[in-house]
Amino acid sequence: MKRTAARLADGREILYYDTDDGAARAFPDTRALDSSATVTTSEVRRDPLLGDAVVIASHRQGRTHLPPADACPLCPSTPGRTSEIPAPDYEVAVFENRYPSLAGDTGRCEVICFTPDHGTSFAGLDEERAALVLAAWTDRTAELAAREGIRQVYCFENRGTETGVTLAHPHGQIYAFPYVTPRTTRTLAGVAAHRERTGGNLFEEVVARELADGSRVVLEGGHWTAFVPYAARWPYEVHLYPRLRVPDLPALGDDARAEFPRVYLELLRRFDRLFDRPEPTPYISAWHQAPTDAGRDRDDFALHLELFTVRRAADKLKYLAGTESGMEAFMNDVRPEDAAARLREVASR
Ligand SMILES: [Zn+2]
Repeated sequence: MKRTAARLADGREILYYDTDDGAARAFPDTRALDSSATVTTSEVRRDPLLGDAVVIASHRQGRTHLPPADACPLCPSTPGRTSEIPAPDYEVAVFENRYPSLAGDTGRCEVICFTPDHGTSFAGLDEERAALVLAAWTDRTAELAAREGIRQVYCFENRGTETGVTLAHPHGQIYAFPYVTPRTTRTLAGVAAHRERTGGNLFEEVVARELADGSRVVLEGGHWTAFVPYAARWPYEVHLYPRLRVPDLPALGDDARAEFPRVYLELLRRFDRLFDRPEPTPYISAWHQAPTDAGRDRDDFALHLELFTVRRAADKLKYLAGTESGMEAFMNDVRPEDAAARLREVASR
């Protein structure tokens, strides 16, 4: 893999990841961008009752919302049209978000473009490109985690307008948080309590239980296991774990790394076959990684990916309504065992 680093006109960093070691990507950004426009006023506040961190990012209201395809900021630049990516072509590109929720001492937000092809999706990539995306996620995690003040790196993809996507081009995001997210904090508390009580690792026991039961297992590779969790919150939700427990992407072994593209592409393609609809299934794909601080929390953690859709039927979406938004009490209309059976049924032949 070749990595080329450059700067955009307003000083933001852009990185190109290429399979071809000869790729030349250092093109100047000729746009007249005002660097002061990227100054942010984000603030991290703590909810006094819950202890959860909340980011107040009031500067983001002016960001680009669903531009037409010919004005896409994630397509490569052409002689007549400049985008966020100055190069005329790329494989995978990462750059600092122009409208970040987190910046400066509140962290960093990056955009990762999976392909220069505006009209495709992650599920439409080939295994080589998916492997390059994994290499880029890994590189970003290692570099951001090493930065002063960063406590957790989160790589994710929102796909479909139903999930709040504001750009149609296949892309994901990488957030470097200056705190451990509420979800991870709660998970770690549960894992630590279980260790105190039993001496065992809760992540490992959950995966072992799912494998022994089998009714919710969706896919088993040699190095990865995918299942619908016992108490799934979302209509179709899959958790993907490497067989060998590691804290984060940089710690992933070569075998698991080599098998990931096939397994993940298969899961995404199954999601697209769930419903009889013209457009692909909306989803959120979220990498859960250990906090960056060395210590027990990091040693206890299990890197995994959580993939879920807000669609519960061809004509129905799952909304986070009164119970979920008001009380964090999820009501799931699809039995996890039925969701798993359906996800096995739509396997590639
Ligand atoms: Zn595009």
